[in-house]
Amino acid sequence: MLALDFLASSPLAFVFCALLLGLLVGSFLNVVVYRLPLMLQRDWQSQAREVLELPAEPKQATFNLILPNSSCPHCGHEIRPWENIPVVSYLFLRGKCASCKAPISKRYPLVELACGLLSGYIAWHFGFTWQAGAMLVLSWGLLAMSQIDADHQILPDVLVLPLLWLGLIVNDFGVFTSLEEALWGAIAGYLSLWSVYWLFKLITGKEGMGYGDFKLLAMLGAWGGWQVLPLTILLSSLVGAVLGVIMLRLRGNATSTPIPFGPYLAIAGWIALLWGDAITSRYLQFAGF
Ligand SMILES: [Zn+2]
Repeated sequence: MLALDFLASSPLAFVFCALLLGLLVGSFLNVVVYRLPLMLQRDWQSQAREVLELPAEPKQATFNLILPNSSCPHCGHEIRPWENIPVVSYLFLRGKCASCKAPISKRYPLVELACGLLSGYIAWHFGFTWQAGAMLVLSWGLLAMSQIDADHQILPDVLVLPLLWLGLIVNDFGVFTSLEEALWGAIAGYLSLWSVYWLFKLITGKEGMGYGDFKLLAMLGAWGGWQVLPLTILLSSLVGAVLGVIMLRLRGNATSTPIPFGPYLAIAGWIALLWGDAITSRYLQFAGF
């Protein structure tokens, strides 16, 4: 209780603690982003074998978010605790495996750093409140699912749906908006992209996005209420268009590669939740209302 009083009375200490916690969570998110798609794939494969009445595969070694311990993909060297300190270990090891000197992806320390900075910023933005706590959980989830979507073009239900429920639950306590607005946010979020999807499919015969995107927007609506939806859709299309053009330039002609929409929705929804009111009132002012 004393520690909580201290965090409540000292904003700087709270920001610092959130930053440290964010670094640690970022390190765990790296594991989730790498392992969860593999776990899902294994699960789907064994389910498919069952449905097709194929003989079950021989029992595989345990593979989940905790086990086995992380190891170097090149030499199998098991990562020791001191090699697993967020960002610090990467710098200390100069980005190389301690055993075989194979390079470690820069993405790991960058995700840890981004997670730490985002968490520290949330603590500063909201102060020591329930909003800060809830927003931390949401942001960690968004960070994990946008990376998985970018890598594999899937938005796993096991991440999106619990966070959708959590959004409704926190708003039953009025943390970000009223429960009624959150409920309609979830419904309108799902239906808006669902309609766009079917319209696009009926006109062009192609699929423009996936069902995961509808669920993700429903989730963002459950957190911020229906009010955040217009800005989220607008911003995600803008960010998607700008980054899409840049990527086309970089990759040359890559029109056939699907561009996942999830990361743009996640970024746009996060911005709308934090600064939606400010952006909208600025805009209305600017437009002369
Ligand atoms: Zn190695």
